Amino acid sequence: MEKRVAIVTGASRGIGLEIAKSLGRQGRHVVCVARDQAKLEAAVAAIRAEGGSAEARTCDMGDGAAIEAMVEAVADAHKRLDILVNCAGITKDGLMMRMSNEDFDAVINTNLRGVFIASRTALRPMMRGKWGRIVNIGSVSGIVGNAGQANYAAAKAGVIGLTKTIAKEMGAKAITANVVAPGFIQTDMTDVLPDIVKDGVKNITALKRFGQPNEIAAAVAFLTSEEGGYVTGQVITVDGGMTMA
Ligand code: NAP
Repeated sequence: MEKRVAIVTGASRGIGLEIAKSLGRQGRHVVCVARDQAKLEAAVAAIRAEGGSAEARTCDMGDGAAIEAMVEAVADAHKRLDILVNCAGITKDGLMMRMSNEDFDAVINTNLRGVFIASRTALRPMMRGKWGRIVNIGSVSGIVGNAGQANYAAAKAGVIGLTKTIAKEMGAKAITANVVAPGFIQTDMTDVLPDIVKDGVKNITALKRFGQPNEIAAAVAFLTSEEGGYVTGQVITVDGGMTMA
């Protein structure tokens, strides 16, 4: 069988980079997407150095027309699209009473609207191929809320509703859709937080440590695998036991 083609957004660094590398090791052709061309080229080189197959495509996940054009170009070039991992995301934290409309809209635009448009565009080639895997990277903030993250928590909660709806609409087409919801993972996004916040998070995490990007990639690898095909509409929380249902 030809390699399955996977788009990973946010693949230039952090969690998305580890997901892209892991899918490359699984034998997928990985399309690495983000805004920073140089970092994407480095991601592609890292995947190829491990014997994998990859290419870079710049795209702003806050620009709906650009997202549609990127996904369609990938599907046209490869005559297939099998896997979409929406990992690109931003934060613009601030307490509710001080949060501007602009900061609310910016986070919703990239973290929720971008996921909707990428998923909608990817579904057509997945339906043609009668197989598909969509994994959206959520957050525990979208499940339990988080002070200072009204915009981010709303976007990530929206991603859960969106993903469950895709799962219900597309199940009959052998397309699955799931959310992986990380807790506190060591990346650029969390490095900037003050020590007092980091210590607080460690304290409420059962495993008493931060997670690593490869620990999120492992969950994505399972959900996008051939064997992961009977899991759909789920939220897989990977948070070291910070939250428990
Ligand atoms: P990160 O280190 O800040 O990386 C963010 C990635 O998203 C980068 O590749 C960035 O690439 C890309 N990106 C941001 N805005 C973009 C845009 N408009 N268009 C295209 N790409 C864009 O963050 P991370 O920690 O790896 O987070 C990855 C995902 O996990 C996010 O969805 C985040 O919300 C989620 N998450 C993270 C944590 C955590 O503790 N780290 C916890 C829960 C959920 P460019 O800058 O090159 O565009």
